[in-house]
Amino acid sequence: DKVGVDIVAGPDAYKKLPEMLHKVTQTGEKDFYLTLSEFETYSDVFPTHEAGVNAWIAVMRGCDNFCTFCVVPYTRGRERSRDPENVVEEARQLAAQGFKQITLLGQNVNSYRYEEADFADLMEKVSTVEGIERIRFTSPHPKDFPEKLLQVIATNPKVCKQIHLPLQAGSTRVLDKMNRTYTKEEFLQLAHHIREVIPDIVLTTDVIVGFPTESEEEFLETLEVMEAIKFDSAFMFKYSERKQTIASRKFPDDVPEEEKTSRMVRLVEMQRRHSLERNQAHVGQVFDVMVEGVGKKPGQQMGRNDGNKIVVFPEQGFEKGRMIKVRIDRATTNTLIGTVCDV
Ligand code: SF4
Repeated sequence: DKVGVDIVAGPDAYKKLPEMLHKVTQTGEKDFYLTLSEFETYSDVFPTHEAGVNAWIAVMRGCDNFCTFCVVPYTRGRERSRDPENVVEEARQLAAQGFKQITLLGQNVNSYRYEEADFADLMEKVSTVEGIERIRFTSPHPKDFPEKLLQVIATNPKVCKQIHLPLQAGSTRVLDKMNRTYTKEEFLQLAHHIREVIPDIVLTTDVIVGFPTESEEEFLETLEVMEAIKFDSAFMFKYSERKQTIASRKFPDDVPEEEKTSRMVRLVEMQRRHSLERNQAHVGQVFDVMVEGVGKKPGQQMGRNDGNKIVVFPEQGFEKGRMIKVRIDRATTNTLIGTVCDV
């Protein structure tokens, strides 16, 4: 009954919008529809995209995992996947509009399944679309990396050698409390196996520090895992409660703020060191770089390599989407700086 609000529409209400608008404009009656559908995949709605290099395609919605800190299963509903033919059709249309890169998107993208087709099958199908040169995906869950998917990433030249592998915490007890469904050892084994199968893979992650009841020793296990894997980059967060989540209802937010900050500082310091190490290992290598636009500094252009790392090089007027070769001369924690070596 808030003044000024006539309609409240949830994510699955879009087909009811004309009806809702009609009702409110004709009768002045307020309307709301927040029910989450078990089947809605928005498969016939092809969003308009701003011209650019990369376009996102939502291939699945929702999540069945119920990590205790996360609100997605409550706001986006159960997992449901789009027909692969429909995804391929959207990719074709995007290629016709000039997009060179597709990022397949889903709250739990690698648990995609449509009838017999799994996520590996979907990527193979999308890779047949002419004009699309690179395929990325986000955000996956570590539980859904079967050998078949790793082989597609390893062997399909259009599928980028980059995996976001959210760790969240290094202690098995904390992981269990988060309902992440893997142990510290299983995660380490998966990361090492991925590096064996795809040696030039770029691995990134998400980490939460200060989850309820996390002790100093358990946080040190997070650092131990980070040190063992040395991710290329990481999104790092201090735990904070999200309304509606299991954690907010059952676990008091009991790690003091100063302690969370101290853990965060140590984690960020370690990750910066790893990012720099990983980037410096690229010095002297030549990458295919897809041009995205101008760099931050005058006289520079920037693009990304297959591993999604930002590569900066001297301005030569390359158009967006063009693939060029760049030799890396030096590196910072966030950027590779190089020289164009083949046009
Ligand atoms: S963190 Fe990811 S896997 Fe876990 S519930 Fe949220 S969306 Fe699902």
